[in-house]
Amino acid sequence: VSQPIQTQILPVVYQPDDSSYQQAIQIASKAIQAGQLVAFPTETVYGLGANALSAEAIARIYIAKQRPTSDPVIAHIAHIDQLQQLATNIPSIAYDLAEAFWAGALTMVLKRGENVPANIATGLETVAVRFPSHPIAHDLIKASGVPIAAPSANTFTRPSATTPEHVLEDLDGRIEFILAGGSTTIGLESTVIDLTASRPRILRPGGITVDEILRVIPDADYSPQFTAKETPTSAPGQMLKHYSPRAQVILYHGERNATLEAMYQTALEQIAQGKTVGLLITQEDQARLAGIGVPYLLGGQTDLETISRNLFAGLRYLDSQNVDLILAHDFGDSGLGVALWDRLHRAAEGNIIYL
Ligand code: AMP
Ligand code: MG
Repeated sequence: VSQPIQTQILPVVYQPDDSSYQQAIQIASKAIQAGQLVAFPTETVYGLGANALSAEAIARIYIAKQRPTSDPVIAHIAHIDQLQQLATNIPSIAYDLAEAFWAGALTMVLKRGENVPANIATGLETVAVRFPSHPIAHDLIKASGVPIAAPSANTFTRPSATTPEHVLEDLDGRIEFILAGGSTTIGLESTVIDLTASRPRILRPGGITVDEILRVIPDADYSPQFTAKETPTSAPGQMLKHYSPRAQVILYHGERNATLEAMYQTALEQIAQGKTVGLLITQEDQARLAGIGVPYLLGGQTDLETISRNLFAGLRYLDSQNVDLILAHDFGDSGLGVALWDRLHRAAEGNIIYL
């Protein structure tokens, strides 16, 4: 049993010339150097950071998240030179991707360097690396002087944290610091691409779209996997249950009018049975579903960026309203719709109605 930890919140606004900002970065980076845990904002979601070159510090991440030690963690860098510190046999395609998408929401899986602890990758011979674009993440990594291992700052299987409040909800008393720098902008995790196989493979769709990747690597493969049972070595992080609220989620896929009609009928039936029903919907859906359930408006139907930014906050909000059931629908299969489908599919644990 681990000792209770006093979690300290460090409010930050990115102001490089401000001494209180610099002081917060100093405190947080010293904590990283001391092997402690610091949650920090990135452009995708909040990360739960630790020194990526310390096996003990990495081990603490798994304990704080209650994450099985079979699910590997991404290492974050703030200078391209740090890539060689983490990985070996780096293919030239990695530099093409870095050129196109770094700093940004792309993670590359490469052959792990000798000095990188094996527990960052659950013993696999690989390491996942990302260069985030968020200036606070950037400053924290630079001041720490080491790459920072950071999974999403949420309890295992819960929706990722996109605000400091979400981090506190899951990790209060389990980590030393939270750099509280407001809401994240993308709201979905990075796209993960494996460059260690002969054919590059997208393991997780995310902030950089599959179409954008294909423009740089036309032969990249994306075949989604929704593994019901954990099979970590073949598919780390592909577990079906992930990003899940406490409420059960039913996900609808199909033509919009048919989908809304089915959601409406189900909501009525469930409410008649005494259930509280949450609706994860768009502004345009509102009219058809008016007057029933607890709605959370993600944004405008075609504004997938806003919908992505609000998705996890919406799942957590509906949980906070103690709904029994959440009804949601797909957002198409292009652009960010691919990553949204991946997250909703896992939040629903495969509980999908195709119309
Ligand atoms: P999170 O940091 O919570 O967004 O989750 C990290 C995810 O990155 C994992 O669940 C995997 O999908 C992926 N990942 C990290 N490291 C590796 C690796 N060495 N090999 C394959 N996938 C990885
Ligand atoms: Mg995660």
